[in-house]
Amino acid sequence: RWAAAAAPRTVLLAAPRSFCAGVERAIEIVERALERDGPPVYVRKQIVHNEHVVRELEQRGAVFVDELDEVPAGAVTVFSAHGVAPSVRDEAGGRNLRVIDATCPLVAKVHAEARRFAGRGRQVVLIGHAGHEEVEGTLGEVPDSLLVEDVSQVAELSVDRPVAYLTQTTLAADEAEEVAAAIRARFPDAEGPAQDDICYATTNRQAAVRAVADEAGLVLVVGSANSSNSQRLVEVAGRLTPAYLVDDPGDIALEWLAGVATIGLTAGASAPPPLVDAVVTALRGLGAVLVEERKVAQETTRFTLPKEVLS
Ligand code: SF4
Repeated sequence: RWAAAAAPRTVLLAAPRSFCAGVERAIEIVERALERDGPPVYVRKQIVHNEHVVRELEQRGAVFVDELDEVPAGAVTVFSAHGVAPSVRDEAGGRNLRVIDATCPLVAKVHAEARRFAGRGRQVVLIGHAGHEEVEGTLGEVPDSLLVEDVSQVAELSVDRPVAYLTQTTLAADEAEEVAAAIRARFPDAEGPAQDDICYATTNRQAAVRAVADEAGLVLVVGSANSSNSQRLVEVAGRLTPAYLVDDPGDIALEWLAGVATIGLTAGASAPPPLVDAVVTALRGLGAVLVEERKVAQETTRFTLPKEVLS
């Protein structure tokens, strides 16, 4: 009775949030391949790092594999949005797989920069997280490139030629800049990317979550645990207010909400928009909710589809 009479909660929606152009493109590639060629369509790794997206595509006939040796010779095979190392392309060619490449063009841009720097005799240093698929793909472009995860590792770099650095596309912008600054301090002639490697979608989602976290007593980030950009949103928001990652409404713990009048809500670039609506609906189930949006940028980026799914 008392709870029902309480003032409505405010949900502040961060905008932009949820799908980016690279994720939309990657999902559409798998959907079109399923329509054109019929199931099964093999996908190397998760097409994007989201459990819900993967499960839905699986139900429609996509088969997700870890490595190409699980794919029958000649089968239609999609490379994920995170990109692949050249060795994976070679392996696919050797097995006559019908490859459709869903690598995000902004990841492909970083690969091209790595090759260009290496071609000019520079030691490529990648700022990123060890083991992430995007990082493995980018490192694979230049086999002697070096990875640094944080400022402390910059001091340990051992190089014998001028350095050029690049970054993973989904890092926290301020942390990546700290590492880049440490590289420039240690190697004053270091070159960086002409244009920031951290992509527009990552940058915008971080700015938007910061705007809502400033006003909220709690921030919920919709995304999967293996999604780098979603994890970074939790970290960026978490510097201002308690922040949690949820795959869907079922992950929300009621004790997080106790005494919180304003909840910030966003979603990582790989998380489907309907899951954000589902979180709002779940919160409405607990009492009256006012929804407001805080929009920090307008996104117009769209990428063209590869020719293999256009005809
Ligand atoms: Fe491309 Fe950025 Fe989306 Fe990754 S987060 S798929 S780099 S647009």
